[in-house]
Amino acid sequence: MAHIVIAGSGFAGLTAAMKLKRQLRHTEHHITVVARDAIFVYRPSLVLVAFGKKSPQSITFDLRTIYRRTRIQFVEATISSIDPEAKTLMTPEGPLPYDKLIVALGEKLAYEEVPGMREYGYNVCTPEGALALKDALGRYQGGPAVVGWAQNVQTGGPAFEVALELEEWIKQHKLNGTIEFVDPLPSLWAPAGPEATEFLTKIFAERHISRRGPVQIKEVKADRVILTNGDELPSVLTVVTPPFRGEDAQKSLAGNNPRDWLETGKDMQSVRYPDIYVAGSSVAFEGPKQGHTAMLQAETAAYNLSQDVLESGKPHRLYDHEMSCVLDLGMGEGLFVRRSLWSQDHQEFKVGRQWPLAKAALAYTFVHTPVFKKWGLSMPK
Ligand SMILES: Cc1cc2nc3c(=O)[nH]c(=O)nc-3n(C[C@H](O)[C@H](O)[C@H](O)COP(=O)(O)OP(=O)(O)OC[C@H]3O[C@@H](n4cnc5c(N)ncnc54)[C@H](O)[C@@H]3O)c2cc1C
Repeated sequence: MAHIVIAGSGFAGLTAAMKLKRQLRHTEHHITVVARDAIFVYRPSLVLVAFGKKSPQSITFDLRTIYRRTRIQFVEATISSIDPEAKTLMTPEGPLPYDKLIVALGEKLAYEEVPGMREYGYNVCTPEGALALKDALGRYQGGPAVVGWAQNVQTGGPAFEVALELEEWIKQHKLNGTIEFVDPLPSLWAPAGPEATEFLTKIFAERHISRRGPVQIKEVKADRVILTNGDELPSVLTVVTPPFRGEDAQKSLAGNNPRDWLETGKDMQSVRYPDIYVAGSSVAFEGPKQGHTAMLQAETAAYNLSQDVLESGKPHRLYDHEMSCVLDLGMGEGLFVRRSLWSQDHQEFKVGRQWPLAKAALAYTFVHTPVFKKWGLSMPK
């Protein structure tokens, strides 16, 4: 009997747990999920929390109920480190040994890399961050705002939605405000392809959001954002996603990766430790880090790991990196992009009023339906 531990229970960890449970049904293998928080946050809805359109409670659910129903052991604990030689996770409750491990710890927000970002900047990466922005919006009386993301961020979509929501907020509240958008990519939303870049550039122009980029952020002050090229942008409201890096707990597995991401093959197996698979933001792949990609990677990791413990001899499945995203443009309009990043399999770009509805339906289903979770959270495919 193998003891399989899943570290983290976000999009990747939860999907891996559900898929593994099904693949290993009728076997003796034991699955334990360890996560810092017993509450799952549906992060794509955090922008709506910041703009007062949803409460934090309405975008969360209790993981303990899900794991109890599916008979998966759940441990609420912070992992301080992972010892790949001793095959043990360290937690305040003591060491937890594993035979096989899936690392799904998400990303760490590296505030320390941009002075002033924690003190003077807002972001929508966490419920606390979204609520702090909501408070700040209540105090915002107009004036220059800077929105965007810093260097080394691999999730850009939320910043676009913040910029578009803020533009609507300024209009609705009849404020005299301007929005400057900053990001480090060669063109606006480059990973989504030229059609998306052109479309979003047009939308930004119509809504008077001006883009500065590619730029990196050197420092955030109470009244301005200082860029690495020396430019200073006046700002009374700064909403910028901080740089991402791998969680501290996975450092011991990261080898020489400069940002502590974990390197894997396309089968999601660690290149250094064959008993370890990795999924979600923890992985060292270039390009967007999304809930969507996290779930696809977790599915691949769970399948391959289950074949290893079952000694089936079947070949590993390979993950195909892709982004899939609905951008809520406001006023009932939305934009859908699905794009394979390593192949030409999917190259879709669609605009229409059905997309915000589809996005809202997925958010509701994800949070509120236990059956959807039990059957492996398969819908976003
Ligand atoms: C505002 C916003 C909007 C977004 N919109 C979209 C969208 O529309 N579509 C999309 O596909 N993606 C979207 N994303 C991106 C998506 O939310 C992330 O890519 C996704 O959460 C990554 O999943 P993950 O499982 O790798 O990590 P996470 O979801 O961050 O989960 C990490 C897990 O690890 C646990 N953990 C971390 N450290 C420790 C530790 N030391 N010990 C124990 N447990 C630990 C956490 O508690 C959590 O359970 C959005 C993100 C944000 C912030």
